Amino acid sequence: MEPPRERQKPKTVTKLAAESTRPNSQAMARIPSMTALLKAAESFETLRGTPHAVVSEALRKAVAVLRERLQKGGVTEKECGVDAVLSQAREILNARRAHRLRRVINATGVVLHTGLGRSVLPSVAIERIGGVAGGYCSLEIDLETGKRGRRGRHVEELLLELTDAEAAMVVNNNAAATMLALHALARGREVIVSRGQLIEIGGSYRLPEVMIAGGSTLHEVGTTNKTRLRDYEAVIDEQTAMIMHVHTSNYRVVGFSENPGTKELSELARAHGIIMFDDLGSGALLDGEVWSSANEPTVASSLKHGADLVSFSGDKLLGGPQAGILLGRRSIIDRLRNDPMARALRVDKLTVAALEAVLELYHDPDRAMREIPLLARLVESESMLVTRAEKLSDRLSSVLPDDSFMVKSDESFAGGGSLPAWPFPTAVVCWKPAGNVSLDELAQKLRLGDPSVLCRIKEDAIHLDLRTVPEHEYDELIQMMMRGRSSQGH
Ligand SMILES: *Cc1c(COP(=O)(O)O)cnc(C)c1O
Repeated sequence: MEPPRERQKPKTVTKLAAESTRPNSQAMARIPSMTALLKAAESFETLRGTPHAVVSEALRKAVAVLRERLQKGGVTEKECGVDAVLSQAREILNARRAHRLRRVINATGVVLHTGLGRSVLPSVAIERIGGVAGGYCSLEIDLETGKRGRRGRHVEELLLELTDAEAAMVVNNNAAATMLALHALARGREVIVSRGQLIEIGGSYRLPEVMIAGGSTLHEVGTTNKTRLRDYEAVIDEQTAMIMHVHTSNYRVVGFSENPGTKELSELARAHGIIMFDDLGSGALLDGEVWSSANEPTVASSLKHGADLVSFSGDKLLGGPQAGILLGRRSIIDRLRNDPMARALRVDKLTVAALEAVLELYHDPDRAMREIPLLARLVESESMLVTRAEKLSDRLSSVLPDDSFMVKSDESFAGGGSLPAWPFPTAVVCWKPAGNVSLDELAQKLRLGDPSVLCRIKEDAIHLDLRTVPEHEYDELIQMMMRGRSSQGH
């Protein structure tokens, strides 16, 4: 199986001959020395200031690329120069940095985008994080006594003030909260769940599998669309530890459907001496019409209806940092605290800082609606959005006069597995670039910018949904759009 090499040879020779008559080793001699490259890198933009080890690794890779090209031939003198190799090294470094966490201008209209980090934090939370991040903080010290205190104690106190729960606990996310609840309260025993609530929330979180991991046995009851109270009642025995009610946060079973509410399930659990655990998912903290029109249960209503334990995310409808919040009866929260898994799931100081600040805003619901970006964005009116869209569209028309910009009404969704059947009327700017432009390529250019811009392509235009783009991001957005346009071939 050797011959192919022989056959390829003449081709290579012809190519080399066309470029230069020098043999291979002489071609290699055209590669600049590592010493020269390292020296030049000291004053080369973007390589300057980068750690020596990182630069020399990138240069080595750039030289390897050049060596390969020289072997093939057809390389000009300029392409062998120091500057060309440095540029290549810079590209290698930039490609590596492309995977760094980068700020994104979210023009998709999806307010709670899990891929984009869910909630945008209010400025008071960012200040609080900054305040504790660069120094020591009273994370587990009671400053009154100077003795050991409890991590997240103030967060717990705030949660109790806001909800009337007996006790509270905070862990890393809601997946951790449900895992901990199952492990501490139902390990080796049975948990009853309606077949209509066996949720999957993206990735590897599927309730039946979480049950197994938590060491408990799932006892499914009812059907996909209908489960009655007597279905639960029929299977309760000495093996049963809890009834788990799961909010169908990312889908809805509508039409010919029925499920007992939190109140009936709590009464049933109480009558049999078992626990009723309500996984609320989204965690709407404010009462009132904001959520009731979307058919979203609030934390307060679940507790009022008698759930022994509720859990929800900190970064969904609460609008805070990633966290899992558990509220319920003191004896139950104590069992969670004492579970060996609790330590593995605990939150860090940055989460505590941000959550404190966000929860404090909830003391004044009007202020919460204004200052928590998630809430403010969800309730921004269509007319306000149209006004903002027209403003942006005018500015864009003047800087990109050949392109067409039009304001249209559309619908956006909350996203992040929340409010699945509740579209919000919104306003979008439709961008139709002049000339023969590939929208996919343009969208990719925008994505690769810094800050990155994410948008939707629909009906031969790029759609920018302004529900998720505050006005203070307009300047940067316009700049990135102009840049995306200028680097495009027409
Ligand atoms: C989102 C969600 C979870 C998982 O919460 P994370 O905070 O993302 O871990 C669990 N249960 C329900 C019902 C949810 O909606």
